[in-house]
Amino acid sequence: MALRLSSEVFEVRTKHPFTIARGTSDAVRRVWVRLTDGDGVEGWGEADPSWYYGETADTVVAALARLEPVLPADPFELEAAEAAMLRALAGNAAARVAVSAALHDLVGKRLGVPLWRLWGLDPARAPVSSFTIGLDRPEIVREKVREAEPYPILKIKVGTPDDEAVLRAVREVTTKPIRADANGGWSAKQAVARLPLLEEMGVELLEQPVAAGDLAGLAAVHRASRIPLVADEACRTSSDIPALAGAVDGISIKLAKCGSLREALRMIAVARAHHLSVMVGCMIETSLGITAAAHFTPLLDIVDLDGAALLADDPFVGASIAGGRLTLPTAPGLGVTRR
Ligand code: MG
Repeated sequence: MALRLSSEVFEVRTKHPFTIARGTSDAVRRVWVRLTDGDGVEGWGEADPSWYYGETADTVVAALARLEPVLPADPFELEAAEAAMLRALAGNAAARVAVSAALHDLVGKRLGVPLWRLWGLDPARAPVSSFTIGLDRPEIVREKVREAEPYPILKIKVGTPDDEAVLRAVREVTTKPIRADANGGWSAKQAVARLPLLEEMGVELLEQPVAAGDLAGLAAVHRASRIPLVADEACRTSSDIPALAGAVDGISIKLAKCGSLREALRMIAVARAHHLSVMVGCMIETSLGITAAAHFTPLLDIVDLDGAALLADDPFVGASIAGGRLTLPTAPGLGVTRR
């Protein structure tokens, strides 16, 4: 019997309006995807569409209607299922990964094992997650840093003319390790000019200083920087990685970019083959989306999975990053339940 797909669009709110170099949001629409097999076992996944990648909740729902007919009758045919979805619909990574996560959840539930165990991983090896401080006025930044007290590593959004004021505000209230993410907000020249400030502030990692398409700019910043660089927007899938080797020190995986859990594992393998470190990031997402990514964190160097921790009303319970420490579920599949 074929797998049945159903979906539900819902809205979640963030605790604070969340601003990065490209814009602000305080409520986002997400899509909850459920696959039901012939025995009534359900696999769940979440689509976290980003307008940056041309997706909305509405495009996700439209994409799901195109994906359902190509789903295999047998959820264990993961490789074939993901290939069929990619053939049916290029792009639409948020929609595809929701189905991919739901298939993996279903397989884990049928086998009675959590996904990390199916993949042969040790959850104790998951790195500590950072917690992100969005762009804001210095006085609000100081308040957010104080609120983030339980988290031992902070990620600070930069990429605007206020960078110096923001970083100094952070350093006035904490001595914690900080990482910076410019979300492509600088030119290469601006990024290089910011490096002395970033070093002075003790920034230990810099994500996507220049626009995604500016590979020469990324390489120029890399040559000038003592701070390790990570490509995020410039790296969507494994095929982007060979060209980035030499221009960065690491790459960042996001499920909403790469479109499948198996592609995330391929990205890890390809990055390792190019001697790059591997990070996982996230969108603003609920614990359902976060947990799908959390299951492969034992393979990674750097984790930034605070998407659900930024929410005022997370409807799901799954992996937790309380105090930065990643705790993976032990229940079968993704191990996610409704709150
Ligand atoms: Mg980033």
